[in-house]
Amino acid sequence: MRRTLGLQVDLKSRWHDGPVRVGAAAERVGVAAHVLRHWEDEGVVVPDRTPAGHRVYTDEHLHRLEIVRSCQRVGLRLWQIRLVLHRDAEGRDDVIAQHLEHLRRQRAELDAAEAFLTHVLTCEHDLMSRCERCSAFPSD
Ligand SMILES: [Zn+2]
Repeated sequence: MRRTLGLQVDLKSRWHDGPVRVGAAAERVGVAAHVLRHWEDEGVVVPDRTPAGHRVYTDEHLHRLEIVRSCQRVGLRLWQIRLVLHRDAEGRDDVIAQHLEHLRRQRAELDAAEAFLTHVLTCEHDLMSRCERCSAFPSD
């Protein structure tokens, strides 16, 4: 219970830094400023502008930037992220379902690779080519 409360306080204070310019926003999420300009061009996170035309990232924008980074970490591309950010975006569910399928295929491939190498480690044949199980791993 105390841990949950602590986390909420941390999240709150983390995003209570007021509006920042593109350089500070980029530093906050650990990317270069040109990356944020690219994300803007792609319509993923579009900051406000000062009357002089400078980009301004509010707490909400900063939070969205972090969400974009999270989505990138699970392997989504920018055009997919743009859809995923908005629950009502057309095609959103399809994009997520397809990526989930992609991840599950990758997991199956990793599981097979792990099982293969685990066997090789303990295989009692002197040559892998003499073992049926060693030879059974698909080559593509
Ligand atoms: Zn073997």
